[in-house]
Amino acid sequence: MFEPATDPVVISCAITGNKTTRDMNPNLPLTPREQGIAAAEAVTAGASIIHLHVREDDGAESHALQRFAEAVAEIQARAPSAIIEVSTRAAIGEGVHYRGNCLELRTEMCSLNVGSINIGDEVFLNEPKDVRALAARIYQFGVEPELDCFDIGHLESIFTLRKAGVLRDPLRFLLVLGISGGVTADPRNLIHMVSLLPPGSHWCALGIGRFQLGIAAQALVMGGNVRVGLEDTAYYRRGEVAKSNAQLVERVARLARELGRDVASPDLARQLLNLAPRATRTADGATPTH
Ligand code: ZN
Repeated sequence: MFEPATDPVVISCAITGNKTTRDMNPNLPLTPREQGIAAAEAVTAGASIIHLHVREDDGAESHALQRFAEAVAEIQARAPSAIIEVSTRAAIGEGVHYRGNCLELRTEMCSLNVGSINIGDEVFLNEPKDVRALAARIYQFGVEPELDCFDIGHLESIFTLRKAGVLRDPLRFLLVLGISGGVTADPRNLIHMVSLLPPGSHWCALGIGRFQLGIAAQALVMGGNVRVGLEDTAYYRRGEVAKSNAQLVERVARLARELGRDVASPDLARQLLNLAPRATRTADGATPTH
């Protein structure tokens, strides 16, 4: 019999992203200092995980290790409890080594894209050999991947990689609905995707753009975790840009509590997601278990 979900929810906040611009939302954090401040506000509002892309001073997407290092240092200084998840997307055509250079910072988590997809007019290319190489580097650095799924077929790719030993349990899925070219934000799609996940997996859902709040609400009801933030939408509601990442986190935290789910602290999130507790991490951030 179905019972309402009562587990605490882990909220992720994607503070910057690679596509949102200051023209779209003047409150977008771009510099490492701004990202540190935004992360601290988001954690205060209820976020446990800070999903991180970095930018150059002119706002262009950056993949420079130095820039990641500056941003991670700012976040760790201002929000020391936060779980930092670096993005390993991007740098298409730059080679897998460059693409994963942020792994050298040994943050607790990173994102991993497992399949290719058309996004709008672009091809987001993730060749199988690159995915395997990147996954190996991720574990080599003691980082735990969150597996981005833009379509249902990406789930099957993950199951294949798991069978081949490339990916390890427990799997952590990020189900992305509503991106142009990917699975739509129809509630039936989230139900179907979750129904395919292996027992014991963790999942977090996000809706792109105007679908952010609805998908978050559905995930809360279904017992999943949620991601919000200015990477995924520039808006708070139709016609109104978000004042900050924290504003988006506050709303979803409020909604969670109204639905009977507490909001996990970062340390509780570590437990829930089977991450190593902070105390057992070594000085350079690596977990001793890998
Ligand atoms: Zn991202």
